[in-house]
This record gives sequence, C-alpha cells and structure tokens, in this order.
Amino acid sequence: MIHLEFNSESENEGIARVLAATYMMKFDPTMEEMADVKTAVSEAVTNCIVHGYEDDQGKIFMDISNEGSVLKIVIEDFGVGIPDVKQAMEPMYTTKPDEERTGMGFSFMEAFMDKIEVSSESGKGTRVIMEK
Ligand code: ATP
Ligand code: MG
Repeated sequence: MIHLEFNSESENEGIARVLAATYMMKFDPTMEEMADVKTAVSEAVTNCIVHGYEDDQGKIFMDISNEGSVLKIVIEDFGVGIPDVKQAMEPMYTTKPDEERTGMGFSFMEAFMDKIEVSSESGKGTRVIMEK
C-alpha cells in the first residue's frame, strides 16, 4: 500500500499519474491497462485541483493498494465537495463550461476503470474510489 499526500498544484498531477503506473508494474499490465489507469488518475486528481480547491490550495491524498490482482486507487480532497454526485457524474455535466472543461472526467473514469465509487459532502471534500 502506498499513501501519497500532495498539494493541489497542477504539476503534482503528473507525479500521481506516474506513481500509479509504477505501482501497477508488478502485475505486468498491458499498455492499454496502464494508459487507462493513468487517464483515470489524471482526471480524478485534476478534479481535486480545479474544482475541489478552485483558487485555494489544499491537500490531496492518493492511496494505491491491491487485493490480489485487483488494483485499488483512492483519491481524496478536503475542498468544497459536490452537492449532487449523481448529476456531476452525468456525461457532459460541468460547472465550468466557460473554461476548456467538457464534463467528461467522470465518464472517462467510469469507462477506463472497472469500478468507481464517488462520495462527497459539501464543504468537507470528495473521495473517489476506483478499481481495475
Ligand atoms: P473535464 O473533466 O471534462 O475537464 P469537468 O471536470 O467539469 O470537465 P467531470 O470531471 O466529469 O467534468 O466533473 C463534473 C463536475 O463535478 C465538475 O464540473 C464539478 O462541478 C464536479 N466535481 C468533480 N470533481 C470534484 C471535486 N473533487 N470537488 C468538487 N467538485 C467536483
Ligand atoms: Mg474533470
């Protein structure tokens, strides 16, 4: 198990992504599996930075573990939270349409991982649990 704690700075997104890919190496993954996990981590961490903390700075936690050959990644922030998770996870739903957001982050996570669970509380933060 690895626990990583980092600041919500955009350059840390790449570190989180590479760490997840490196952890996976012991399973001898295909290029596609690696790419899927990297994309999902990238989307989840970017959400924490862009939405969770907006203009503020805060901590992001990433836990990477496995049960047998099932990889589990938990990505968590302690920012603004999501008022309606079901709505937020709908394809093309975004609260920042003015920027270059397309509202597809959660859809990519769902498509590229085998399982995703999102829990969030307004003012407390957001936790995304993904398995592959
Ligand atoms: P894209 O990911 O395509 O750039 P997006 O980030 O808006 O656009 P999603 O990643 O699918 O799209 O997220 C949908 C919405 O859920 C966001 O617009 C935001 O309102 C909310 N959201 C997602 N993650 C968080 C988070 N960690 N904290 C607060 N709100 C979030
Ligand atoms: Mg997103």
